Amino acid sequence: MPLNWTMPASLCKKSFIVITSIAAMSLSACTTNPATGQSQFTALLPASSEAKVGADEHAKVEAQFGKFMTGPIADYVNSVGQRVAKNTERKDVQYRFYVLDTPMVNAFALPGGYTYFSRGLLTLANSEAELAAVIGHEIGHITARHAASRMSQGMVAGLGAAVIGAAVGGAAGQVASLGSNLYISSYSRGQEHQSDELGVRYLHRAGYDPMAMAQFLYSLDRQSKLEAKENGKGTGFNYFSTHPLTAERVQKARQEAAKFAANNTENRKTYLNKINGLIYGDSPDQGFAKGNRFYHPALDFTFTVPKGSKITNATSQVISQHPNGTTVVFDFAKSKTTNPSTFVTQDWLKGKNAAPVEAISVNGQRGATTAFAGNVQGKNVTIRLTAIEKSPGQYYRFQMAIPRNVSGAFTNELKETTYSLRKMTGREKASVQPKKIRVLVAPAGSTVASMANRMNVDGNKTERFLVLNGLQANQPIIAGQPYKIVM
Ligand SMILES: [Zn+2]
Repeated sequence: MPLNWTMPASLCKKSFIVITSIAAMSLSACTTNPATGQSQFTALLPASSEAKVGADEHAKVEAQFGKFMTGPIADYVNSVGQRVAKNTERKDVQYRFYVLDTPMVNAFALPGGYTYFSRGLLTLANSEAELAAVIGHEIGHITARHAASRMSQGMVAGLGAAVIGAAVGGAAGQVASLGSNLYISSYSRGQEHQSDELGVRYLHRAGYDPMAMAQFLYSLDRQSKLEAKENGKGTGFNYFSTHPLTAERVQKARQEAAKFAANNTENRKTYLNKINGLIYGDSPDQGFAKGNRFYHPALDFTFTVPKGSKITNATSQVISQHPNGTTVVFDFAKSKTTNPSTFVTQDWLKGKNAAPVEAISVNGQRGATTAFAGNVQGKNVTIRLTAIEKSPGQYYRFQMAIPRNVSGAFTNELKETTYSLRKMTGREKASVQPKKIRVLVAPAGSTVASMANRMNVDGNKTERFLVLNGLQANQPIIAGQPYKIVM
């Protein structure tokens, strides 16, 4: 039954940076950068417009990553950030520092002084100087105006472009496109080296050991190799996708630091005390996937997806993609109607589709589902939309784009996805307690093996312990010194 299908608004919505929102171009297209001393073509993003662009993009970052972390750890990152920022050449920028509650190791910056550091990155660093180094690097991107010069070269892209739209289109590489955008996409080799150089300069001026840049880059490089080994390629949107060439940068950062007088201020103990107790890995507040099941302890739901699917946990959606091209997008919606069928036809499809709606019951909750033929990005698919009542006027939604040639068995697996949605059991909640960073003072006689044995992690404990602590395998454990353990 081929239907003339109109995509619901939420499937079509795209969020692009609109060039016209940028204030009038400055007359002089080239400016001399006070940090780098270089002449830059920045006409499309004059310094006076950076704050506005940054503020707009910042709202999108929050929408994508969820609420920023608050409390002592956020205050601490901000205080280190302000100390580093005081030493930059650009005083016209108000620098801001945010902590993203994600296990991914990442950091990035937006024009206008907005910088972001992930919880995963904080657990990897081993001293305040290393945190200051990564802050200095991100500030370097801002002072050197890398985004501005790139934007002026016409590289305009959407932010997290239309997650649902692209996902329902079954676009390959959807995961990679999450979070990729004009400012957050990767920089050039030259820009990375320049930011490292500026970061080392700011580290030194702020009174930290300038070698901390090379140390942290080295940890990042080892972390990326460990991740690649444990998860295979394509771990998604992380530091290595936004800041390539980590290995090569270690050497250059070391050479750069050697130009400055030695300074051994690391504040290692202070730093480790600050991150003691920080969640390591998945957080119950964000939800996470285990195998083909997704759990959200804080919002109290779980469901499965067909085996072999890759699950991406975005802030407002869970996206599952199967190698056969099937995409499932799960999210929530509110409505004035408390009737699931009315919600599907009137709210979701805006009355624009006449496909019959079937009333269903999912683990005691009322629901409604409909399916119709669609053509998404040139591919013939079946679109199936299902709404399941969460509470009166609140719905869980599954949107599925299913290639026409999938097997009957696979269709049944998708049906199971719909009917698997339920509240989490007490036992499940207890079993998904988050892991935390614990700082342990090494007892006399400790070895790498004895410390690593205390780690509660999947995979190779010794390797994880070494990378987490920035240690070499043959390095002795010093009694009385603090080390990071995952418990
Ligand atoms: Zn960078």
